[in-house]
Amino acid sequence: MKIHEYQAKEILRRYGVPVPSGEMATTIEEADKAAKQLFSEGNAVVVVKAQIHAGGRGKGGGVKLAKTIEDADAHSKAILGMQLVTHQTGPAGQKVQRLLIEQGSAIERELYLGLVLDRASGKVVFMASQHGGMDIEEVAHNTPDEIFKEYCDPGIGLQAYQARKLAFKLGLAKEQIGDAVKFMFGLYKAFIDTDSTLMEINPFITTKDGKLLALDCKINFDDNAMFRHKDLKELRDIAEEDPLEVEASKYALNYIKLDGSIACMVNGAGLAMATMDIIEYAGGKAANFLDVGGGANQEQIENAFGILLSDPNVKAIFINIFGGILRVDVLATAVVAAARKLNVTLPIILRLEGTNVEEGRQIIADSGLKVQIGATMKEAADLAVAAAKG
Ligand code: GDP
Ligand code: MN
Repeated sequence: MKIHEYQAKEILRRYGVPVPSGEMATTIEEADKAAKQLFSEGNAVVVVKAQIHAGGRGKGGGVKLAKTIEDADAHSKAILGMQLVTHQTGPAGQKVQRLLIEQGSAIERELYLGLVLDRASGKVVFMASQHGGMDIEEVAHNTPDEIFKEYCDPGIGLQAYQARKLAFKLGLAKEQIGDAVKFMFGLYKAFIDTDSTLMEINPFITTKDGKLLALDCKINFDDNAMFRHKDLKELRDIAEEDPLEVEASKYALNYIKLDGSIACMVNGAGLAMATMDIIEYAGGKAANFLDVGGGANQEQIENAFGILLSDPNVKAIFINIFGGILRVDVLATAVVAAARKLNVTLPIILRLEGTNVEEGRQIIADSGLKVQIGATMKEAADLAVAAAKG
């Protein structure tokens, strides 16, 4: 689960990590009030920042500095409601529905700090680089040696010597090392307490008066741990998510929208991946990843159909089921009922295997629905690709 920068900064603040003060605004009036407040507190510069679940906002025109209230208002008017395009949003961009109005900082250096769960080592890796403020993926690609890493043993956590080592590699002044270590410990504790999978401070800045600040912050939480974080769950902003994925999550369907034309309905994540692969192999493109789960019932199948059908790019539906826990006859009954109820007119291609497969095939044959059955996965994929091409 992703959250906004202003929410991430609120979390950092609770862990004693210094961040600029600011207010979130959803209207021009709120933005104006927040900017006036910051200027009246003696800030020479106020920053207007678009809040969307994507990075690269600065380059896309979603981060602007203002020295007067008039400038701040003009930036707020320009950014709020704009369709912000960054390298992470795709060409359609993302509509800006919230702003962060923040006190400006006098930047001396832009550095980078990041924590990520490294699956290969089974540890949290703490990363630091002197190349902050820019695309860290580019730094990782071109000059990987300039990203310093410390692996944290889960039993004992981040150690002071590791934080000091990273602080020295960032080239911080002697007087800043202690603050940097405290800063990193705050981040590490926040990361662990919130069950995060990613936390990035880019840029992590030093100011002209020698202070350290998190100028930007991105946090992703582990979805599988959200059941034990009711408070964090409330930070979800579904306006930032794909509407079909939001719908699917209501029915406990694992659905990811993709941009091909063949909708897939599959039970089991491994089979779903294999199905997408074989569609590609047959010359087509999957419209989605969908795992209806091992114990899917008729209602879930119906909901799954509904979601697949609301994607206008879909030209054919490929149902690939292995009847293990979910018996094939039960699935076939559900597919027939759902297809009738929703009046599905798109071609349906089935590949069925497993418990009660003969009964299942009979139910499909008796239904009178225009369904093609492939004997193997490859044959079914070929049928689906042909059907999608029309
Ligand atoms: P991102 O582009 O989505 O990663 O947004 P950031 O919050 O990282 O902001 C992008 C850039 O805007 C930063 O790298 C800074 O160079 C600049 N910026 C943001 N806030 C301030 C500020 O308070 N003062 C100054 N001088 N620059 C800022
Ligand atoms: Mn950034």
